[in-house]
Amino acid sequence: MTAVDEGKSLTLEQIQTFEGKYPKRLWYLFFSEMWERFAFYGMRGMLTVFMTTQLLMKDDEAQLKYGGIQAFIYAMTFVGGLFADKLLGFRKSIFWGGLLMIIGSFTLAAAPKELYYIGISFTIIGTGFFKPNISSMVGSLYKEGDPRRDAGFGLFYSGINIGALLGGWLCIVAAKQYSWNIAFGLAGVGMIIGLLIFVFTKRTLGPIGLPPMEGKLSAKKILRNDIFVYLGSLLVIPFVYLLVRNSQYTDYFMYIVGPIAFVWIVIEILKLQDKASRQKMVAAMVFIIFSIFFWAFFEQAGGSLSLFALNNLHDTVLGVQMDPNAVNNSSNSVFVVIFSPLAGLLWLWLAKRKAEPNTVIKFGIGFLFVAVSFYLYYYTRFFADASGKTSLDLFTFAYLISTLGELCLSPIGLSLMTTLAPKPLHGMMMGMWFLASAYGQYAAGILGAGMSTTAENATNMDKLIAYTDGYKQLAIYALIAGVVLIVISPIIRKLMHEVH
Ligand code: GLN
Repeated sequence: MTAVDEGKSLTLEQIQTFEGKYPKRLWYLFFSEMWERFAFYGMRGMLTVFMTTQLLMKDDEAQLKYGGIQAFIYAMTFVGGLFADKLLGFRKSIFWGGLLMIIGSFTLAAAPKELYYIGISFTIIGTGFFKPNISSMVGSLYKEGDPRRDAGFGLFYSGINIGALLGGWLCIVAAKQYSWNIAFGLAGVGMIIGLLIFVFTKRTLGPIGLPPMEGKLSAKKILRNDIFVYLGSLLVIPFVYLLVRNSQYTDYFMYIVGPIAFVWIVIEILKLQDKASRQKMVAAMVFIIFSIFFWAFFEQAGGSLSLFALNNLHDTVLGVQMDPNAVNNSSNSVFVVIFSPLAGLLWLWLAKRKAEPNTVIKFGIGFLFVAVSFYLYYYTRFFADASGKTSLDLFTFAYLISTLGELCLSPIGLSLMTTLAPKPLHGMMMGMWFLASAYGQYAAGILGAGMSTTAENATNMDKLIAYTDGYKQLAIYALIAGVVLIVISPIIRKLMHEVH
C-alpha cells in the first residue's frame, strides 16, 4: 500500500490511536501549512514596501491599507471556519482556499500594479478558507483529553514559522533583486506545493475533514451546497475588492462585524445551562479581548517595522551583511522555530517543580516581553548615525524578545479556546480568536499610521524620531496591559475553574 492509499479505510479511532509523540499524519498537515504560510508571509512581507515604492502611497496610507488587508484576511478565517463546519468540511475548504490563493498570487505576478487589489482580494478569501481549517484538522488527529495535543500544536506552530521564514525572506529578496512579478509568482509556487502535498496526502486522513453532511444528505444536495459556497465566495470578491480599495469602507466593515460577533457570543453564553460553562466562556472572552491589544502591538511587524527596516536600519547582523527587510520578515520565525520547543521544555520543567505560571500569568508575561521589545525598538535611536540609520543588531534582538512574548500567548491561546469552550462552540470560539487577530491587525495599521511622519520631505532622521517615539508609547501600553492582566489574574483563574 502506498502512503496515499493506506488511510482510506481507516476509522477515526484507528487514526487517533497512535504510538509515539506525534501522529504520522501531522507531518502531512505540517508541510501543507508550511507552504501555505510561505506564500502568505512572502506576500505579507512585500505589501507595505510594494505600496510605498510601487504604488507610491505615503507611509501612513500604506499602513492603513496593510492593516485593512490583514484585518480582512483574519475576519475571513472566521467565515471560512463557519462554512467548513456547516457545509464544505475541512478538506474541500482547504482545497478551495488554496486554489483561490494560487489565483491571487499569479494575478499579482502577472501585473502587480494594475491587478494589485484583485490579486489581494482572491488571497483574502482563499486564506479564509485554508488557514483555520487546516488547524482544526490538526485538532482532529487527537482524542479528547490526549495529553500529546499541545505538543502537536507546538510542532505545527514551528511548521507555520519555517514557511513564514522562508517566504518572508525569499520573496522580498526576489522583489529587490529581480522583480515584483517574480516575487509574487514565487509565493504562488509555494502555494502550489502546499496544495499538492495536501491533495496527495488527504486520503490518509480517513473520515477527518469530510463534509459534515456526508451520509445525511444526498450527493446531489451536497454538490448543490458546495456550488453555493464556491459561487458565493466568488461573488464576495468584488465586495472585498471595494472594501480593500477604500480604507473608509474597511472602517465600516470593522465597526459592524465585531459588535455583531460580540452580541452573538453573549447570546450563546446566556444559552448555556450551567454556571461553570458560562464563566469559562467569559474567561475566554477576556483572553480574546486582550489578544486584540497584543496583536495591535505585535503586528507592527508587517507595517511600521517594515518601513522602519526600509529606511532606518544598517544592513549587518553580527557583522554579516543582511537585507533589513528580510531580517524584519524572517527573524520572528527563526526565533519561534528555535524557542518554541525550548518554551515547551521550560513549561514542563516548571510544572514538575509545581512552579509553572498559570495561563493568565503567561499571557501577562507575554505583554511584558512585548513591552521590553518595544522599549528596545525605541532605544535604537541612541545608536543612530547622522543619516538616521541605526543598529540592525539591536533591532533583531528586540525581535527575539517579542517572539518570547508571542510564545507565551499565541499557541497557548489556540489551545485555550478548545479547553474553555464547550465542544459545540469550539469552531465559533476559534473563529473569535482569529477575529480578534483581525481587530489587532486593523488597530496595528491605525497605530502605525499615527506614528508615521507625513511631512513631504521627511528625512530618514525625522522618520526615525517619529517611529521610535511611537514605539516608546507602545512599550508603555503593553506594560500597562501586562500589569493589568497579572493583577486581575486571580479573578480570571476563578472563572476558568479546572482549566489552568
Ligand atoms: N503567526 C501565527 C500564524 O501565522 C499566528 C497569527 C495570528 O493568530 N495572528 O499562524
